[in-house]
Amino acid sequence: MTEPTLSFRYRLESAPPRVGAGGVTRGASVREFPASIGIAGVSMRLAPGSMRELHWHANAAEWAYVVSGQCRTTILHPNGAAATDTFGPGDVWYFPRGWGHSIQGLGPGDCHFILIFDNGDFSEDHTFSITDWLSRTPPDVLAQNLGLSPDDLATLPKGEAYFAQGPAPDDQSADAAPRPAAQLTSTHRYPLLAQQPRRVAGGGTQRVVTVNEFPISTTMAGSILEIQPGAMRELHWHPNADEWQYYLEGQAEMAVFLAEGQVVTDRFEAGDVGYAPMGSGHYIRNIGATLLRVLIGFNNGRYEANDLSAWLASNPVDVLATNLNLSRETAAKLPRQAKFMIPSGSSHFAATTDDGERHSAS
Ligand code: MN
Ligand code: MN
Repeated sequence: MTEPTLSFRYRLESAPPRVGAGGVTRGASVREFPASIGIAGVSMRLAPGSMRELHWHANAAEWAYVVSGQCRTTILHPNGAAATDTFGPGDVWYFPRGWGHSIQGLGPGDCHFILIFDNGDFSEDHTFSITDWLSRTPPDVLAQNLGLSPDDLATLPKGEAYFAQGPAPDDQSADAAPRPAAQLTSTHRYPLLAQQPRRVAGGGTQRVVTVNEFPISTTMAGSILEIQPGAMRELHWHPNADEWQYYLEGQAEMAVFLAEGQVVTDRFEAGDVGYAPMGSGHYIRNIGATLLRVLIGFNNGRYEANDLSAWLASNPVDVLATNLNLSRETAAKLPRQAKFMIPSGSSHFAATTDDGERHSAS
């Protein structure tokens, strides 16, 4: 067995933050979390009225999930259309790579959201910010472009603002966007947590949003897994996407199978990030006494998974008996249909004890 060199866990919420006017952000790119080659993530908090300033990302699309609080985003479509949306807990947004956008905390209280980017080399620090650009542009050029005098522009920030603190808009102000109904899906907004779980199995549920439900989200999909104590999302792999996990609550064990004898197992708790590379085998098991909730982002607009139970169930019993060195009688007890989630206490230790020696012989 080769000694694994990579960790697939990153303690995001324990990392030192970048702090600005009303904003706090922690990022995990491939620099902080070397395993996460295909996806990067950020945990950001905005106080009421604080903004993540107008910016764009040259090398990644942005998929976000609001954990708590309320915020408002405005995004410009390259065809000239624009959208302002309001988001609350459980809502998702998607901004295509290169489109200009801003995010503003609405209050009451901080808005906490998780940003997921479909490029591990992405860094939230390396974004194209409006204040960075304008402060490096000659004043006479800016005055001409904006139809203002150089005096009008004297108070512009002298460098990148990144965060900017202002008053929180209220529903009565002329600037306030109309608040859409809580369940509404719009071009850039999908209420993932409000979705009836797509899959309900013994032991847990899965909510999923793909390009099918959320057409703008062509390069990313996401899901929320809720797993009961002792239950597990069974062994599986994704043929078409890397998987980036943010543990919302509870305690988990997650193992990544990398072939060539390598399996990396770790324990996760709220605020930790996990990563399963495209094609790697993995499972997520609730090892705590309370509900486990995991937010997952994929760098593909379509969701595909191959689950162990479905794979075994697709094979003739004699193939399984020979391959796994089981009697035909035991092989016939293997799952004959897809499980997806495996509830607690569903193993049959008595039935496998006799075979234990053969199982570990490899
Ligand atoms: Mn952004
Ligand atoms: Mn998975």
